[in-house]
Amino acid sequence: MDRLMVTVSGVRGIVGSTLTPPIARDFGCAFGTMLGAGKSVVIGRDSRQSGPELQQAITDGLLSTGVNVTSVGIASTPGVALMTSKLSADGGVIVTASHNPIQYNGIKFLQPTGTGLTAEDAMKLKAIWEAGDFATVDQNARGAESQDDTAEQKHIEDVLAVCDVDAIASKRFKVVLDSINGAGCIASADLMEKLGCELVHLNAGPTGVFAHNPEPVEENLTELCDAVRNSGAAVGFAQDADADRLAIVDENGRFIGEEYTLALAAAFVLSKRKGDIATNLSTSRMIDDIAAAADCKVLRAPTGEANVISAMIEGNCILAGEGGGGLIEPLVVPVRDSFTAMAYVLQYMAETGISLSGLVDKIPSYVMLKTKQPCPEGAIEKIIDATREAFSYELEARVNDSDGLRIDLDGAWVSVRASNTEPIMRIMAEAPSNEKAEALVAEVTGIAAAVTGS
Ligand code: MG
Repeated sequence: MDRLMVTVSGVRGIVGSTLTPPIARDFGCAFGTMLGAGKSVVIGRDSRQSGPELQQAITDGLLSTGVNVTSVGIASTPGVALMTSKLSADGGVIVTASHNPIQYNGIKFLQPTGTGLTAEDAMKLKAIWEAGDFATVDQNARGAESQDDTAEQKHIEDVLAVCDVDAIASKRFKVVLDSINGAGCIASADLMEKLGCELVHLNAGPTGVFAHNPEPVEENLTELCDAVRNSGAAVGFAQDADADRLAIVDENGRFIGEEYTLALAAAFVLSKRKGDIATNLSTSRMIDDIAAAADCKVLRAPTGEANVISAMIEGNCILAGEGGGGLIEPLVVPVRDSFTAMAYVLQYMAETGISLSGLVDKIPSYVMLKTKQPCPEGAIEKIIDATREAFSYELEARVNDSDGLRIDLDGAWVSVRASNTEPIMRIMAEAPSNEKAEALVAEVTGIAAAVTGS
């Protein structure tokens, strides 16, 4: 990424290069212009050292358009989202680059509910920013600035309210948690204490100096896996830098994969109450098996957290999430939330008396393959048509074309879609065996090659 990315998910760039305080200030002005003078915004940031400067610049921009700004300081993404809703603000801003390495930072804009902007509003904001035509006010109409330091406390209270604290605390679980010196450090230590867990906390200070690449994937979590093994812990958890995503390590120190965060939480929640689940098109079909066993449905939305949340709200779902370690519990906050995910996994273990690896074994497992390959401009529609045609003989096939093409077969699926940001396409498949998944990817790759003549 060598340019500033301005997408429906927000702004992301390299600090001091593509993302500077003047640019951040302009985005503050643009968001303030969109909301209008007299409105209010909650702003918070992850622990990156570039955070305070960028937060101040955005705040200045908002104040100059007559918008009142409340800072919640360093807080997780779900924490800022929760405060945006609790303080009845007209919008929210998070200064975070989520799981991106330390040289990055970003700006995410929120609706009053705490959920990211709709695609429509995000494009409106981008247009205002590009035009640079900001509705600044004169000095006596400037917005007011205030501070609220209760985000962590309020978030933890709401997580505790949806779980059985006594059931979890009675087990006195030993937990290893890697908070990557990110925004989740303080609140997650507090949560573990209230849940009666014995916490071995790695990278536990919100210094923003990441001990490893903050994306919670296997290659970045060797320290966590070793610590779980060496300490005899019941479970290991890893948060990303803004603590919305969670990855899990079992009691043997084995990384179980990010797909299991939603799967385990869904299995737990559906054992208590029935309802449908919303997720995106590339999330593992483990969730379909879990929902089917409880007589519930899975609604599949296009990739992107905001799309999943829209599907959750429209479908009146009791839970939502994404395969990349993102659980969304609308009873707490309508965004991905690693804190609720940790509490649910611990309660599931406590109530069943089954180890983490045992709970994983109860869920039918699949192999998911993800590939990306060049895609000439304009070719994707032809590739999709040819793929649809090629699979039309499959009597069991179900087709979803809301985001590229996904074909659900009996016990497996394959998908192809173009990237929004690069001239590539992603071909993915998931099946009960590696052989079957590889065959599905190879089939679609072959169809694409025939279409593009490559
Ligand atoms: Mg994140």
